[in-house]
Parts: sequence; structure tokens; C-alpha cells
Amino acid sequence: MGGVVVLSGMNTHELRDGDVVLTHGMRVRISGDGEVSTSHPQDVAGAPCLWWAGVVENLDDVHAAGVVPRSFVRDGLWTVQGNGLARWTVERVDDDSAIGCGWFLGCRNMSVGYRHHPILGDVPACGRCKTL
Ligand SMILES: [Zn+2]
Repeated sequence: MGGVVVLSGMNTHELRDGDVVLTHGMRVRISGDGEVSTSHPQDVAGAPCLWWAGVVENLDDVHAAGVVPRSFVRDGLWTVQGNGLARWTVERVDDDSAIGCGWFLGCRNMSVGYRHHPILGDVPACGRCKTL
């Protein structure tokens, strides 16, 4: 049975369709693979810059909290944008194939891919441990 896991240290390129990005007290659901920003350079570290027009799912709470000015959230949408150097915390539905990070004993993040270890071979690693 799948549940929702919270993944921290995800870089923008690891975000997926259906993820809920947690930022500034907002829960922002993104759909699709993200658009490549043409207004950012393509030949720099972390490129490309991707963006999604995400749906703010807790708009009433966001307005009540007053952290994000009302005019910043247009039509209930918030732009999630960043290159591969940006880090995010997201909620993702655990599809049962998700496995925990195995890079460090004690790391409780979910893996987002594999990192090659010289002795162990490919080890599941979270976004943070993949880039340490
Ligand atoms: Zn880890």
C-alpha cells in the first residue's frame, strides 16, 4: 500500500509529475515534465532551468498565513522554477517501488536514483547524498 513520503534535497531535475513542492508554506502540485526556460543560459552548471505552473493546493491557508502576498499567487498558481542546483522538499506518492537512501547509514530520505560506489556498485541514494 502506497503512502506519501516527504523527500528533501531534491534538485529541480528530479522533480516529477504529481509531486507536491513545499515552499513558503505552500503546497504546490506540479504536472508534467516541466518546461525548459529559454530566458536562462543553457551552457552553465545546473542547466537547464525548468519551470512548472503549479497549483497551490492550500490557498486558503496561504492567504491566512500572510507570508506570501496575495498578488504573488495568480489564479491559484505558483511558478516552481530552478536549475539542477536548486534544492526542494516535496511530497510524493510512494508507489511501493520507492526505496530508502542507502548511501549513508541513518539517512532517512527516499532514494531518487543511484550513485556509483567503488566497492558496492550502484547504491540507491537520495538527492542530497547523490551530490555530497
Ligand atoms: Zn541520503
